Amino acid sequence: MSFADLALDEALLRALRESGYTAPTPIQAQAIPAALEGKDLIASAQTGTGKTAAFMLPALNRFVQASHNRRRKARVLVLTPTRELSSQVMDAARKYGKYLRVSTVSLLGGMPYGPQLRQLGGPLDLIVATPGRLLDHVDRGRLDLSEVELLILDEADRMLDLGFADDVARIAAATPATRQTLLFTATLDGAMARLAADLTQDAQRIEI
Ligand code: AMP
Repeated sequence: MSFADLALDEALLRALRESGYTAPTPIQAQAIPAALEGKDLIASAQTGTGKTAAFMLPALNRFVQASHNRRRKARVLVLTPTRELSSQVMDAARKYGKYLRVSTVSLLGGMPYGPQLRQLGGPLDLIVATPGRLLDHVDRGRLDLSEVELLILDEADRMLDLGFADDVARIAAATPATRQTLLFTATLDGAMARLAADLTQDAQRIEI
């Protein structure tokens, strides 16, 4: 299978060619078509499997119509447990989204408020955030999640380990119930399975 078989826009295929990727990894081959169809996903995948592109490519594919982009309310929200992971996700968004006109904003805990407040005043299509800081902005009325179409949770099990379960639930509740949800986790036991069930609808399970 090649990336060209996956119904991704040419702008993304071009960025992938430049990245030197020749074929999708197993998680990408399974997750990308299902995500492009609008399905919810619960994917068990470790780091190193190519999981970031598995969710970022279908997320970016929503922005191929440049005239609809650079809006004031985000359409895609990616939650990650840590700043470090957020930075990697943001790097992936920039790399794969190189030929798209999409406004990406990162809202991370432990970082100064000034630049984030300025960014919140401008266009924002895709947000990458850690839960605490994101909720802080929502609670202060600085960020409206009512137009989020796609919610992605990366390393959701680590978000639970770090005590973000309630924050994640509140963030999800601030997005439309009709949204699509893609959840990536290394483990799927107990509390993680319950959160996954709460946040997704008729989700397709993917295990790598
Ligand atoms: P991840 O599991 O998302 O952290 O990705 C692990 C590494 O694999 C990253 O350095 C990616 O740039 C790389 N990668 C992701 N997808 C592919 C692919 N289809 N072909 C080659 N490398 C890839």
